[in-house]
Amino acid sequence: MAARLLAFFLLVLAGLSPAAAQEAAADVTVIHAGRLIAEPGRPARGPSTIVVVGDRIQSVTDGLQPPPAGARLIDHKDRTVLPGLIDAHVHLAGNPGGEFWREAVDPDEWNMVLGIENAATTVRAGFTTVRDLGSPPQVGHMLRRGTAEGRIVGPRIVSAGPSISIIGGHGDVSGFRTEVIHALSARNTCTGPEECAQRVREASRAGADVIKFTATGGVLSQQARGLEAHFTDEEMRAIVTTAHSLGLKVAAHAHGARGIEGAARAGVDSIEHGTFADEAAIQALRRGGGAFVPTLMAYTGISEGLEQDRYTPPVAAKVRETLALVGRAARAARAAGVPVVFGTDAGVYEHGRNAEEFALLVERVGMSPAEAIASATTDAARLLGLETEIGRIAPGFSADLIAVSGDPLADVRVLERVDYVMVRGRAVE
Ligand SMILES: [Zn+2]
Repeated sequence: MAARLLAFFLLVLAGLSPAAAQEAAADVTVIHAGRLIAEPGRPARGPSTIVVVGDRIQSVTDGLQPPPAGARLIDHKDRTVLPGLIDAHVHLAGNPGGEFWREAVDPDEWNMVLGIENAATTVRAGFTTVRDLGSPPQVGHMLRRGTAEGRIVGPRIVSAGPSISIIGGHGDVSGFRTEVIHALSARNTCTGPEECAQRVREASRAGADVIKFTATGGVLSQQARGLEAHFTDEEMRAIVTTAHSLGLKVAAHAHGARGIEGAARAGVDSIEHGTFADEAAIQALRRGGGAFVPTLMAYTGISEGLEQDRYTPPVAAKVRETLALVGRAARAARAAGVPVVFGTDAGVYEHGRNAEEFALLVERVGMSPAEAIASATTDAARLLGLETEIGRIAPGFSADLIAVSGDPLADVRVLERVDYVMVRGRAVE
């Protein structure tokens, strides 16, 4: 009882009102970390104690402090604890496969089932926040609500909804006869600046946290119109300025150099993939202040798909075109001082393998493990506009953290086996 009282007074001293402290005493978790990467980019700390109250980190102190009575103790004194990982590019509602016709067979409710399954797989792999950049209308938004309310197991979700595309471009329905396309369309295409601005406002009304558009052709859609710019510069400017006027960030899918350059000049917040970026495109991105999200695991996924003969001829041709250049553009972007942010395109490969991207960032892009970890925590949090909420283990931040055996700053592959995950103060089973 005395110990319980002590815990209560500690909470009062920590700034909670007596009433709030009483309620919170039952909800205190103390985590002992053998090694702590509290703020990626800064040196790791030794044995440390993290106090979590409800969904928030309350304190981080040196040494293994005894927990107050009534608090839960989580013992990671033989492990490294670090902030929950962030993947800035996933598609929770889809799985890899070349059967594009499934779009005409499976209803959106089936994508919801896949999304629920993939959300659990993703958070168990240590990713406590993801940005979903393309899912059927409302599927990503409802997954976001489901994980936020704790009804389903999964990460915090920043959700775009359907990508905005040109008619017949990457993100539109393709590969079917016209009547079928009309029936399946998510009404996410536009022609001309005015209509493109309208699509952004509709996405905002529907609940998008971020606007995703496909500036260029894409690899896995049945359109055979190449990988260069699809939107005009005027259309891209309309999309970006309209989104920014609504306080929404913009992610542009882009492969071809001129499409990347046009999107960067329009002021996008991130270029996704960026496969054929040349010097002019990278300089435009640097001047515009956008980030580069290389999605290297996407190329692993399509290379596996090609080996398994999954793709139709137009898709297979585009896959071959991109595979020769994996990592080159990201290396050039990093050298030019463009922030390279962790994003994988999960859904193009199997969900749950997201952390394999770390080794690719080290081997193909030349990042240090510390830089790669920052790209998936502090840097990704900034891109998502959540830098005061996630990406660090610090007082006031959301209690999103993971524990791994070994030292990820020495061998980044230890992040591929995560022993423990907490998201919003809840331990993930
Ligand atoms: Zn994608």
